[in-house]
Amino acid sequence: MNTAPIAHGGSIVNLMADDERASELKRFSRDLGSITLSAAAAYDLELLMNGAFSPLTGFMGRDDYDVVLSRMRLQNDCLWPLPVCLPISAIQAQQIEPGQSLALRDVEGFMLAVLHVWDIWPIDKKREAQQIFCSRDVRHPGVRRLLESDADYYVGGPVEGIQLPLHAAFKSLRNTPMEMRQRFKKLGWRRIVGYQPQGPMHRAEFEMTLRVMAQTKACLLLHPVITTAMPGDIDNHTRIHCYLAAGKNYPANMMQLNLMPFAMRMAGPREALLQAIIQKNYGCTHVIVEPDHASPKPDADGLPFYRKEAAAEMVASLCHELGIEIVACEEMQYVVEEDVYLPASEVPTGVRTRHINNDEFHSKLRNSRKIPEWFTFPEVIDVIQQAYPPRHKQGFTLFFTGLSGAGKSTIARILYARLLEMRSRPVTLLDGDIVRRNLSSELGFSKEHRDLNVKRIGFVASEITKNRGIAICAPIAPYSSTRKYIRRIIEQYGGFIEIYVATPLAVCESRDRKGLYAKARAGLIREFTGVSDPYEAPEAPEVCIDTTDMTPDEAVQEVLLYMERSGYMR
Ligand code: ADP
Repeated sequence: MNTAPIAHGGSIVNLMADDERASELKRFSRDLGSITLSAAAAYDLELLMNGAFSPLTGFMGRDDYDVVLSRMRLQNDCLWPLPVCLPISAIQAQQIEPGQSLALRDVEGFMLAVLHVWDIWPIDKKREAQQIFCSRDVRHPGVRRLLESDADYYVGGPVEGIQLPLHAAFKSLRNTPMEMRQRFKKLGWRRIVGYQPQGPMHRAEFEMTLRVMAQTKACLLLHPVITTAMPGDIDNHTRIHCYLAAGKNYPANMMQLNLMPFAMRMAGPREALLQAIIQKNYGCTHVIVEPDHASPKPDADGLPFYRKEAAAEMVASLCHELGIEIVACEEMQYVVEEDVYLPASEVPTGVRTRHINNDEFHSKLRNSRKIPEWFTFPEVIDVIQQAYPPRHKQGFTLFFTGLSGAGKSTIARILYARLLEMRSRPVTLLDGDIVRRNLSSELGFSKEHRDLNVKRIGFVASEITKNRGIAICAPIAPYSSTRKYIRRIIEQYGGFIEIYVATPLAVCESRDRKGLYAKARAGLIREFTGVSDPYEAPEAPEVCIDTTDMTPDEAVQEVLLYMERSGYMR
């Protein structure tokens, strides 16, 4: 007897073409137009093709889209809260006609599926924002993405799948609904509660899931959404390792981990409902809905976009029709004296509770402060600290900028020797000459080429920083926007220390070490920084040094003192 819950709309749809049809489609594709899918569209396509979006058989057409917006249903009355449409630009829309077929490709050009076009229509973005997000405020990330996107049309129609999007890592954790259902059957699991953790799974979430499992007598499907990480979040690979580490604390054979490739819209209640549908399709009988489920952070005035309980209320009001039970969980609080976690409503009055919010947690991580074990399992802390080491173990870039002759290379070279002597981490000096010889040998000295040279230095420095080394760069880097860009790419991985060597032009010119100023003044060098091209001084450099009345060793000492003060040296 098959005890698995029925899929939404009846059964799991299978959009994958068999081998013969797939070969036929590949042959046809030579004559077809193509659409290169954005990351979000590729995730939607993956859930269509793997059956998680059952009963959808492709990207929605206009009629379904309209009813979804107004009534949260498909035309056949099946509950469906959010559009699953394929956005395209106006130029692409002009080249497509109903009846045509299109190859859907990933960014590498690999063909994943064929779309048989039924409908193409312009998006009424304000209406969609209001109906889906209940807001037109661009401070809402979903609204902003929709309103600011340059895709102004949708194209809809049935899809024939050729190949699921490729994921190189954690393949064994990327199962389709059918595979998950088979696994549950094999394990003898009849009652399964689906939970989609947002963060890296701290003790509060772990204790909450244990309580829910006991209440519902169900096993757990830990089902995190793994798509594009938000800036400031823990990166996806680290998050997955956190789930693997925290997962060891569940009783044996009571938890399965699977990764869900769902492009979050942050549509609060409607999104919670869609996630319940997805969990049901994966074979869950119960679903956990948290306070503020799938909701963005409050706006700048601290006002939430949705009520805390709105998502749970929406799913609860429709769960009979959905055929899945909802478990609306409360925030858990840590009770210090008892060393236990309790739901907020069960905490006796007068007892001491403790909490670390997400911002405090990230601040502790950034500043290498201790994360207590009552908050997170030690093995999870280990995983996080391996990925986010304390500053004295992180890589960093020392980025000198200033006019020619200001003293950048002289200071950089001495600093290089001093850091090698200290042997704290591998050090690379990306000196002007070395870079021009090896990395940018084909480049000249035009504005564009000088800028490209600086960006290349920034890229190499970011790779060195990522791998926990020290990169020392000493280009003139006169343009503020380029320096900001480099700061941004490096700060993803470690420290960026901008050192403005602010020696005045007159002093640099009087030194004229390479005779370049004389040539520039004589008009022999065009676009020379400080003479015939601007130098945009940094607004807030980490270190500022004027070498007019200073020895090179004193200048180096200034930089080392900054590194010491900021925790880079231990
Ligand atoms: P840049 O790399 O900024 O073009 P260089 O380091 O090649 O500048 O040249 C700077 C010149 O200034 C060198 O001749 C150096 O000896 C001299 N100088 C004098 N005082 C200092 C100082 N405190 N720091 C660095 N260089 C100094």
